[in-house]
Amino acid sequence: MKKVTRRSFANTLGKGMAATALISPLYSSLAYSTTTTKKLGVALVGLGSYSTYQLAPSLQDTDYCYLSAIVTGTKEKEQLWKEKYNLAKDCIYNYGNFDTIIDNPKVDIVYVVLPNSMHADFCIRAAKAGKHVICEKPMAMNVAECDAIIKACEDNNVKLSVGYRMQSDPYTKEVKKYVMEKTFGDVNFVSSDAAYISQGNPNQWRLNKALSGGGALMNMGVYSIQTSIYGTGENPISVTAQEFSTRPGYFKDTDETITAQFEFPNGAVGHMMTSHNINGNRLKVHGDKGWFELDPAHSYGPISGRTSAGTEIKFPLKMQMALQMDDFAKHIQLGTTNMAPGEMGKRDMIIVEAIYKSIAEGGNKQLLDLGTMGIVS
Ligand code: NAD
Repeated sequence: MKKVTRRSFANTLGKGMAATALISPLYSSLAYSTTTTKKLGVALVGLGSYSTYQLAPSLQDTDYCYLSAIVTGTKEKEQLWKEKYNLAKDCIYNYGNFDTIIDNPKVDIVYVVLPNSMHADFCIRAAKAGKHVICEKPMAMNVAECDAIIKACEDNNVKLSVGYRMQSDPYTKEVKKYVMEKTFGDVNFVSSDAAYISQGNPNQWRLNKALSGGGALMNMGVYSIQTSIYGTGENPISVTAQEFSTRPGYFKDTDETITAQFEFPNGAVGHMMTSHNINGNRLKVHGDKGWFELDPAHSYGPISGRTSAGTEIKFPLKMQMALQMDDFAKHIQLGTTNMAPGEMGKRDMIIVEAIYKSIAEGGNKQLLDLGTMGIVS
């Protein structure tokens, strides 16, 4: 007999609410308008720089989540984090005993913040432990791994989200609104750069293909892909790409700079640049009645924007990761939109693979058949 855990009970309840939604929209809207959200416990897996300087501080500023557990391979971090975040003794895990997290009712969400090659393994194990999953970007090393993560979450009735913090940022919502409402007319060109100059240890995992899956494209490139898509409101129907190398001694194993051009179904074209050897952080969208621009476009904040109408795009600064984790906690508990579902991460990986294929074939155009996959309005 299937063990009924607190998690599987909550999932069953959630499914029941979804079924009710099909029967009676009125009842469903009442059901979903409940405000009985509680703070969900988040376990951070991997206490590197993103967890230390962004996610853990953001978890102090969330309304619907809190840091309840850690998973680390570094013994010294256990006590440090336990004291700093007042964690219970039975909420400290290492990579070896991670699977026992299944028995911990204080953990609702497992957030995988490890090198890319470890995402699939830990996301699948988290799903098998009955925990909802946030998987950092890029979702995995390839499309097949994305499929495996999605399947594990479906099989275990847990929710899945990708760590695309920008999807919860008010600036991104404003971009989507401009595009949907045609504020600047029909979009006909989008340009997106997401890049920085890497000067650290040449042996870091991001420059090691076995651990990262690729260089700039797997790191910042997914932001360029994301902004190109929400800048037009559509998935590309083709991509053509080029790779540039100026420091082969440093970038021995991974791509340094990549440019790619997209065609979109509505006739718009796009250009993206990503690099580990150039600085760039911009989205510019041209419509037939004007333009808007974010620069910086992908930073932790503040983002900065302007339009051809002479207006500034401005929102109060709030940690994107806090917004992102709260959005996911609300999705789990109230059935609100999943701002970055697994299929969005998989779609981006399909585009990444097409970009690498175009480069391998000397810049041949790759056709894409994505429909509306992963588009969240
Ligand atoms: P990091 O190098 O600072 O931390 C990596 C962590 O993984 C460390 O705690 C390290 O000890 C652990 N680890 C376990 N096995 C390892 C191994 N074999 N090699 C190296 N480290 C190992 O990296 P990070 O910047 O925290 O990135 C972690 C993940 O978060 C990546 O997938 C990255 O793409 C993602 N990330 C996302 C954002 C974002 O804005 N959404 C920002 C930064 C990083």
